[in-house]
Amino acid sequence: MVSLESFPEITGSVLTDPDVMAAYAVDHCSPVHGAVPLAVVLAETTEDVAAAAGWCYANDVVIVPRGAGSGLAGGASAIEGCVIISLAKMNAVKEINAQDQYAIAEAGVINADLDRAVREHGLMYPPDPSSFEICSIGGNVATNAGGLRCVMYGVTREYVLGLTVVLPDGRIIRTGRRTVKGVTGYDLTQLLVGSEGTLGIVTEVTVKLRPAPVIPPTTVAASFPDVVSAAAAVAAVVGTGVVPALMELMDRRTLECVEALRPFGLEDETRAMLIGQGSTPEDAAVLAREFEAAGAHYTVVSDDPAEAAELLAVRRAAFHAYEHAGNIFSEDVGVPRSQLPEMFARIEAISAKYGVDIPTCAHAGDGNLHPTLIYPRGEREVPQAIWDAADEVFQAALALGGTLTGEHGVGVLKARWVGEELSDDVLELHRGIKAVWDPKNLLNPGRGF
Ligand SMILES: Cc1cc2nc3c(=O)[nH]c(=O)nc-3n(C[C@H](O)[C@H](O)[C@H](O)COP(=O)(O)OP(=O)(O)OC[C@H]3O[C@@H](n4cnc5c(N)ncnc54)[C@H](O)[C@@H]3O)c2cc1C
Repeated sequence: MVSLESFPEITGSVLTDPDVMAAYAVDHCSPVHGAVPLAVVLAETTEDVAAAAGWCYANDVVIVPRGAGSGLAGGASAIEGCVIISLAKMNAVKEINAQDQYAIAEAGVINADLDRAVREHGLMYPPDPSSFEICSIGGNVATNAGGLRCVMYGVTREYVLGLTVVLPDGRIIRTGRRTVKGVTGYDLTQLLVGSEGTLGIVTEVTVKLRPAPVIPPTTVAASFPDVVSAAAAVAAVVGTGVVPALMELMDRRTLECVEALRPFGLEDETRAMLIGQGSTPEDAAVLAREFEAAGAHYTVVSDDPAEAAELLAVRRAAFHAYEHAGNIFSEDVGVPRSQLPEMFARIEAISAKYGVDIPTCAHAGDGNLHPTLIYPRGEREVPQAIWDAADEVFQAALALGGTLTGEHGVGVLKARWVGEELSDDVLELHRGIKAVWDPKNLLNPGRGF
């Protein structure tokens, strides 16, 4: 084991107590158990990160970058003998430029804190993962996170203008720009977005902002007799050409899990719930019309922001409710939106075939589903039926023209399936890019692809 004696002085702190480090060794992905790290660095500056990375490079020590640890794919879990570099203490919003509509945030800033800060200037930071109160901007960049508002505004990628990044050997680089346009050189900023901590450690992010809407959106919530007709309603809305401000779907088992955690009055007849928002009352009327045409039992339309927040709190509670129900193997498949009804039908069939509980919610407007396979909390290893059912869900998504992961990333959990989506030639290019950025393969090795 490498000795930490020569570890450089940094502004932040270096943890080595095994009990304390255990909290940094895992994320929210139950199947991936973190190994024992050598140390956890709580960086406070970009220079801290650079010093720690440089030491790791010189001593051939693996690095795991870590944001807030809310990931669902095991990407921030510890590798045996690694140094975890946590960005959590780098949580300052350094600049908000209202005139040019951008902000510069340290990587550890919590997503919702950034949005709250820019709202004071009449602006918004649109990408809002359900985990917005517990995930960091750096983690959002590393996973190209999506969220509820992304159906209208686009995902993290569309908002990242520039980055400060520490390379695996400790060099500090800046990519991108503050301008609206800019095409100098290869777009390394966008290469880093979604790279899951395998190419560089992001320490600062320059994000694009938008004016916050002046009129609150109109919310439409509907109860359906089954999840397939709710999914058909989503496909029908997409067919109208109206872009909803939000469109989230929950199946019966998801609603039951949320009801068990924070009761909201789930009705017996509700087998699925769709929550949509229109940025104008006219758009909302189109949503309500399509929901009813697809067979909704009842539809509620509201322009009361408090009521909307209450409904969305049910959706945002879904993952916590799944975690409350047991250990979770969280999938994140995406399909073309016309295929949503078929994908939901296949998930129901797979659940019945394997006798596995698979509550599913979806950023339905994006065709991004979260089938979440639940197994007993006491089981340390993932039961074979879960692996088999998970495999069939992935295969179903790919067969319908979809993808393995819409927003959570590959991490450790999905690495075994990547070759099913990416061809050998494409994987070879990935390996080439990785070798240029990280020639010693020390940065989050084995994650992402
Ligand atoms: C309740 C709940 C709801 C969720 N809802 C959503 C959702 O709606 N949409 C969505 O997209 N995700 C969602 N997630 C997943 C998760 O919140 C996102 O993946 C988020 O972007 C992770 O951010 P983090 O700061 O927690 O990153 P971490 O979990 O710490 O890390 C995630 C990955 O990014 C890398 N990384 C982290 N920070 C950096 C950095 N500064 N530089 C380089 N690499 C880094 C890590 O190595 C790891 O590979 C949810 C999770 C939970 C628990």
